[in-house]
Amino acid sequence: MHFLFILLALTYSLSANIILTDDKKMLDDFTLSYLYDASHLLNIDQVSKKEFTKTTRSQFSFGYVNGTTWYKLTLTNKSHSEEYVLSFLEAFSDGLNLYHEENDSFVKSENGLLVPLDKREYYDSYPTFSLKIKKGETKTYYIEAFSKFSSAGEFIIYEHKTYSSKGKPLLIALYMFYFGSLIMVIFFNLFLSITNKDRLFSYYTAYIFFYTMFVFVASGFDLYLGYEHLHGVFHIVSPLLVAFLILFSSYFLQTKLFYPKLYKLLMLNFSIYIVLTPLVFITVEPWIEVVNFITPLTFVMLIVIAVMTSIKGYSLAKYYLVIMLTYIASLALMNSVLMGYIQNNHFNRYIFMLASYLEILTFSVLLASIYNRTKKEADRDSLTGLYNRRYFSNEADKQLKLSKIKKQAFSILMIDIDKFKGINDRYGHPIGDKVLIQTSNRLIRQSRIQDIVSRYGGEEFIILLPNTTINQAKVIAEVIRKDVEKMLIVLDDEEEEEEITITISIGLSQSVSSENLSMGTIIQEADANLYRAKESGRNRVYYA
Ligand code: GH3
Ligand code: MG
Ligand code: MG
Repeated sequence: MHFLFILLALTYSLSANIILTDDKKMLDDFTLSYLYDASHLLNIDQVSKKEFTKTTRSQFSFGYVNGTTWYKLTLTNKSHSEEYVLSFLEAFSDGLNLYHEENDSFVKSENGLLVPLDKREYYDSYPTFSLKIKKGETKTYYIEAFSKFSSAGEFIIYEHKTYSSKGKPLLIALYMFYFGSLIMVIFFNLFLSITNKDRLFSYYTAYIFFYTMFVFVASGFDLYLGYEHLHGVFHIVSPLLVAFLILFSSYFLQTKLFYPKLYKLLMLNFSIYIVLTPLVFITVEPWIEVVNFITPLTFVMLIVIAVMTSIKGYSLAKYYLVIMLTYIASLALMNSVLMGYIQNNHFNRYIFMLASYLEILTFSVLLASIYNRTKKEADRDSLTGLYNRRYFSNEADKQLKLSKIKKQAFSILMIDIDKFKGINDRYGHPIGDKVLIQTSNRLIRQSRIQDIVSRYGGEEFIILLPNTTINQAKVIAEVIRKDVEKMLIVLDDEEEEEEITITISIGLSQSVSSENLSMGTIIQEADANLYRAKESGRNRVYYA
């Protein structure tokens, strides 16, 4: 009986007693015993008299809990060093305080978000404490931890010199590399959005800006700015980041064109985040939890739309899907760690940083290639900014070859403004030009990124839709026709009442990969169909 008791006591103490030796400069995998105080009322004197019956690994997650968790750490020093450092590798505990006994009373070292960096024992965003243990001594420490955020983290014990030389520098270098690259990408996309005046780049720039801010805050780096009291306010980057991801995604996936109803739903979703932003600014809790709760739903919605869009044959949607699925899966892993659903290990906790890095770089390359296709002045019509006829012919020949190799059909939209001569005659040439410019803007807005939208001559436009069947082309043509019909042209900028509307007729044709059609034949067919659209009454889409 006695023997059993000793054995039990021995195993118990083994699991919670850590031996410091010369060959271990850093301990990152050990066991601590802990006690959970749901009332948040116990003090160190009461806690130290209690028995700590539960144990946890040094890297753990208890999810979101309201009470205080007390950890007990017993160290026996069998090394030659008497100075050690205990660090907690997460920055989001409100309180993370260390206690040790000295002359029969407890000495407290306060840390966590409630303590500014310069009042902490170490100038470190991660709560860090020095441990002084004499050779041969056994010392017990208590750690009191509470957080509005997740109770997840990782304790590491460093030999003093190792902490200052290896502990933080490598991590800081990695973060600096990460932030540095993201800042470069932000500036690069900012440049693209200014020179290209395309909302796609602006939305994307805003999205990565807020994402970078998000990691900056979540990693605790914002604490070094010295505005600890603003740490909560910084949470507004979360709703903003998702809001701009929605804008970017809906534009990238051309949701307005393909699924107007889903587009409305996305915009409603967008407004919810915009409303939540000032609310989070005013009181972080509980609004940040609302953001955290609806974000997964938004992600699911974006993925579903991307799947539907890629089924429609929109090639960019496939890239979007692969990139976003990887990224979202990694975010789900991190979130599951913080919620306490899965094990807190380095892979689950930090893989999102790699995934987001790849996500941002891949999107940037995609956007740069889109930009690349639209930048050359020589290829453009000077009045409307659309591609000119020469550029169109070259691109069309390339597309024809490509469609034969890939066995994919493309479609052609031949567009002509109805009764345009009358507009010129009645309102004058400048108004005629204005109509051409406004119509061109609508064509650009309603076509997809890969479509080649060109001015074919006078008031005629031609659009090549790569990898698009005639049925998809009909849908797109109808969207364009209706959009132009709704467009208002202000005759006199001073008197806004005087407005006119115009209509267009569209003739369609498609390449069929098996037939050996020439580009000329395909365009002729679209032209013939345009003629029939005109004959049968104008303001319509025709395909025979
Ligand atoms: P519909 O196509 O419905 O048969 O009638 P329409 O009146 O549009 O047909 P038409 O081809 O006869 O007229 C085209 C007119 O477009 C002739 C020309 O004055 C005008 N136009 C061509 N290029 C420009 C331009 O760059 N600026 C302006 N303002 N007008 C132009
Ligand atoms: Mg015309
Ligand atoms: Mg004409």
